[in-house]
Amino acid sequence: MTVHAYGAHAGDQPLVAMQIQRRTPGPRDVQIAIAYCGVCHSDLHQVRAEWAGTRFPCVPGHEIVGKVAAVGAEVSGFQPGDLVGVGCIVDSCRQCAECDDGLENYCDGMVGTYNGPTADAPGHTLGGYSQQIVVDQRYVLRVRHDEAQLAAVAPLLCAGVTTWSPLRHWKAGPGKKVGVVGIGGLGHMAVKLAHALGAHVVAFTTSDSKREAALALGADEVVVSRNAGEMAAHGTSFELILNTVAAPHNLDAFLQLLKRDGAMVLVGAPATPHPSPAVFNLIMKRRTLAGSLIGGIPETQEMLDFCAEHGVVADIELIRADGINDAYERMLKGDVKYRFVIDTATLGG
Ligand code: NAP
Ligand code: ZN
Ligand code: ZN
Repeated sequence: MTVHAYGAHAGDQPLVAMQIQRRTPGPRDVQIAIAYCGVCHSDLHQVRAEWAGTRFPCVPGHEIVGKVAAVGAEVSGFQPGDLVGVGCIVDSCRQCAECDDGLENYCDGMVGTYNGPTADAPGHTLGGYSQQIVVDQRYVLRVRHDEAQLAAVAPLLCAGVTTWSPLRHWKAGPGKKVGVVGIGGLGHMAVKLAHALGAHVVAFTTSDSKREAALALGADEVVVSRNAGEMAAHGTSFELILNTVAAPHNLDAFLQLLKRDGAMVLVGAPATPHPSPAVFNLIMKRRTLAGSLIGGIPETQEMLDFCAEHGVVADIELIRADGINDAYERMLKGDVKYRFVIDTATLGG
């Protein structure tokens, strides 16, 4: 089937309206009428070819929510009309240890929702800035929020699970002091989720203007990280710091704040490396510097269910598809509270 989409033909070109093909649903496939798609900073990195290996045309988008339009004969658990989501993963090898453990995000055969290998035309996957998508049922998530919240649920599919996974793995919860660096799309979800998990949350921002807003998100304290005095006031008191910043910066300023055995987890993925941290900041207190990639399918469902139960959604600004290029420029300036979401009703004619 031919559907309207928005994407780019080259890394130095703006996104434009285009038509793409979706496969006819196979026996295990779910066809989804996409209602909304969140705009992740990874979309910008990839569509502008800032990371290696972008294939064009590139249709970004991996924060997809919508309604099931059709299901294949072998699909169980989904039926037309169901509210569903698709995140960053649309396939994986299904037989390695990572897939067995429900950590498809770490499978060597993981297929991204866009820019991944596929037999479908044009030979790589095309993402959620489009009207319809067809996905194997194993990678489709159930959305239990009210339909009225659907647009604000979209960012949970990447920003939500990318912060949920390390918060759970490093056991954020009551009695733990958790820092979140960078209060953008990922960071604002990290603050909400860490707060809902019961941790004491400190938001680190470079933007004075986000001070009040970060408290409203659920932060217990806010630090403007350019202010050395505010940083030093926290001593060595953090169990966990989640770093979501999309640009290279000085990691030592944050590593120094970890207590013994504390960990800083990098989820931000800048196109050029951070300056290497000082080894002594790691060895003096047996600190860990780690990374984390999105999340597996079961933990994505766990996060969605937790958010439905606790009333957690993203703070969003709804945009038209033809506003995407402006939205990217504003995202680069940190001028969004906190996630742009495309209304796919504005796609095509
Ligand atoms: P975003 O909405 O643009 O937020 C990034 C935030 O980082 C900004 O709001 C800003 O927060 C801070 N920041 C940006 N540039 C900075 C700079 N030069 N110096 C200091 N702080 C800066 O982006 P996002 O969608 O949350 O994504 C963040 C990063 O995570 C991107 O690199 C993205 O590709 C990556 N990502 C990784 C995964 C994964 O699986 N690991 C998944 C999704 C996204 P303040 O204004 O508060 O300082
Ligand atoms: Zn993303
Ligand atoms: Zn696998």
